[in-house]
Amino acid sequence: MSETVGRATEHDARALNTLLAKMPAVERVIASAHAQPLIAQYGRTQVLDAIRAAQDAWRRDVQAGTFEHENKDIEPFALERVIAAAAQRLADRAQSRLRPVFNLTGTVLHTNLGRALLPDEAVKAVVQALTQPANLEFDLASGKRGDRDDLIDALICELTGAEAATVVNNNAAAVLLLLSALATRKEVVVSRGELVEIGGAFRIPDIMSRAGARLREIGTTNRTHLKDYEAAINPRTALLMKVHCSNYAISGFTKSVGLDELAPLARRHGLPVAVDLGSGTLVDLAQWGLPAEPTVRATIEAGADLVTFSGDKLLGGPQAGLIVGRKDMIAKIKKHPLKRALRVGKLTLAALEPVLRLYRAPEFLQERLTTLRLLTRPAMEIQEAAQRVLSPLQRALGETYAANIEPMFSQIGSGALPVDVLPSSGLVVRHAGKGGSGRALLKLERALYSLPRPVIGRIADDALRMDLRCLESADEPAFVAQLTELRL
Ligand SMILES: *Cc1c(COP(=O)(O)O)cnc(C)c1O
Repeated sequence: MSETVGRATEHDARALNTLLAKMPAVERVIASAHAQPLIAQYGRTQVLDAIRAAQDAWRRDVQAGTFEHENKDIEPFALERVIAAAAQRLADRAQSRLRPVFNLTGTVLHTNLGRALLPDEAVKAVVQALTQPANLEFDLASGKRGDRDDLIDALICELTGAEAATVVNNNAAAVLLLLSALATRKEVVVSRGELVEIGGAFRIPDIMSRAGARLREIGTTNRTHLKDYEAAINPRTALLMKVHCSNYAISGFTKSVGLDELAPLARRHGLPVAVDLGSGTLVDLAQWGLPAEPTVRATIEAGADLVTFSGDKLLGGPQAGLIVGRKDMIAKIKKHPLKRALRVGKLTLAALEPVLRLYRAPEFLQERLTTLRLLTRPAMEIQEAAQRVLSPLQRALGETYAANIEPMFSQIGSGALPVDVLPSSGLVVRHAGKGGSGRALLKLERALYSLPRPVIGRIADDALRMDLRCLESADEPAFVAQLTELRL
């Protein structure tokens, strides 16, 4: 039951003033016994602000005629009510804006949901780096100033077969730095079939101009030949570049030039070949039944002088951009002033090292590298999870929605292997009532976002779909428990 008290008209201006006069003074509220636990938790400054804000909101509601007072057993502005409203505001404000969610989108490496999840080893290392001083740039052997790349470059070289390596903030930074260091005021030859745009405004032509390099486009969208590269080479050419078509595939009447042909051509002209691999896997994924992606090692063996790739895509680590390749070129890249601006922090290095170390034991990788574990999770196991979750979900949904288990296909995500899909299983919710299905699904989607740990699915074909690939058994109880809080 609710009642609207006081409308801002001349007629009941007096009732309004009588009501507002009942609002207790802030000093009285803050001095009351009810306020003391809040002050102990948040401090007096914040509590005062919250009380004022709560009372101001009520004043505005009263004046607008929208003030609602539901419980008639208690005065509208009783101290307890004021404190409760302030406490609610304080709790809302104290909640972190970056919150854990359930990724049921079916995209494992979801850029908007933070890409790769880190294994425990990495989490422990990050906590340590956060809470204890570390030899980030301190050489323990000589007692002199060290280089943060030294902590990790030997391991990267061991895993990729490269001569040298460096790490920056992300792969976009890696490409920008590489081009800035090696191609400013010079030309870079790229096939028109590889002028990639990655989501979030990373476009090869734009990065090229930011780096002050001139893009020399060759070939056509579907076909580029070795002779196109050869014809474009001139005294101003700095490098030949290949970009991995991460998020699209060109099929049909196509021709691109592989490194096996390109590297010898570059060598004849004394030019380096750089490859932006994007995902950059360190192991052959086909051994786990996943679609094959070129590995960093194979790319170097095929003749690439420099390779750039992300740390938080298929590699399964923290956000980072890795540049590996020839020693002389890495040295030049490390000397460029942008390297200082794009360098990684200690948290990234702390997380990256244990993730890379997992690759030394490929036998355990599928179990221990979270990304690989999720990507290779058997559809049968996912379906069993769906069976466990189905009835609690249906109970929470009530009668207006019907949930079913259906097979579906997950995606790797982050631009990796866009044409390949992973058989999976999940919950499909449809509106059971007549008509208005679109609106009902949006309402359900909102309600799922409003849960303590928001649930992110996706709406397609008149249904809300939740792929359970990324709901691991450790998270399942929490997922089920919060369903009782679903408010539709
Ligand atoms: C993802 C990707 C990038 C951008 O990498 P970030 O780590 O997101 O900066 C660049 N190039 C290619 C080919 C990619 O796939």
